[in-house]
Amino acid sequence: MRRLVLARSSSLLELGLRRVAGAARAVAWRLPQGAAVAAALGVAVLAPRPGEAQPRVVATLPDLYVLTRAVAGPAATVDLVARFGQNPHDMEVRPSHMLLVRRADVLVRNGLEEDAWIDVIVRGSNNPKVQRGSPNVIDASLGVEILKVPTGRVDRSLGDVHSTGNPHYTLDPANLPTVTRNIVAGLARAAPEHTRIFEANREAFLEKVAEADRRWRALLAPFRGARIVSHHDSWPYLFRAFGFVEGGIIEDRPGIPPSPQHLAGLVRRMRDEKVRVILLENWYAADAASLVARETGAKVLVVPQTPGAVKGTDDYVLHLDSILTAIADALREASWRD
Ligand SMILES: [Zn+2]
Repeated sequence: MRRLVLARSSSLLELGLRRVAGAARAVAWRLPQGAAVAAALGVAVLAPRPGEAQPRVVATLPDLYVLTRAVAGPAATVDLVARFGQNPHDMEVRPSHMLLVRRADVLVRNGLEEDAWIDVIVRGSNNPKVQRGSPNVIDASLGVEILKVPTGRVDRSLGDVHSTGNPHYTLDPANLPTVTRNIVAGLARAAPEHTRIFEANREAFLEKVAEADRRWRALLAPFRGARIVSHHDSWPYLFRAFGFVEGGIIEDRPGIPPSPQHLAGLVRRMRDEKVRVILLENWYAADAASLVARETGAKVLVVPQTPGAVKGTDDYVLHLDSILTAIADALREASWRD
């Protein structure tokens, strides 16, 4: 009861403060002071006027964090729940996560089971703004065509992740217009006075991605149809985007170590189909991938699955640059070996 009263009074207080702040400022837009902020984000960003409120946004996962930061620019503060480089399928909830979410005005979540742990954190945060169903919660997946949605009976024997479809949808640049539209809509609900800033930042960001996408397509054009194996089922969207073919997955069920029978079958298939590259997401142990590589002569390529897992990749374009360049190099090298 006490908790409920406190929550209500604090949101009334905030509403009041927002009114005061709203009355005190004119709606106006200007470029940020100096080019440093724009340069740091890699796009031309608009900034709020000094003293204007910045909503506090929390994103569950690094991919959502870098996308949110790109559209928010300096008009919102953005924090990340999972650490850079942390395996989101294996996350330990801590009190510090709850404290972070307690202060949030907006929560950006994956919408599939990739960040299911956020429900525990949200409950522990006692923050009514970020509970499921609140307009301040952004489901980044809305409107995205989700791949590998399980059909038939779904239970934990299928693995404890990906139970509602493959959640790694930000790895296809073609999904970004939808994902960033969801993020902008949610940010604008929380801070309508910054709507134009968010929209302008989104446009500039999408333009930057489109330019990079043309570069990526040219880089990968010689390798269309190449079969690639991975440790985790992280890449169906990326494979579809760039014309690769999935040559098998080491984890036969996402999040569950593979059986010897599964690995034996995978090795046979890789030999038949001459698969030359195994992607190993850098938070997994190399044992199974190394074994399969020894048996098949394929090369293990350690890659970050999410932005920021490797230094200098805490930005969407830099992250894809690093993955796609590594894949192109490995496939080129394999074609010389054959
Ligand atoms: Zn996954």
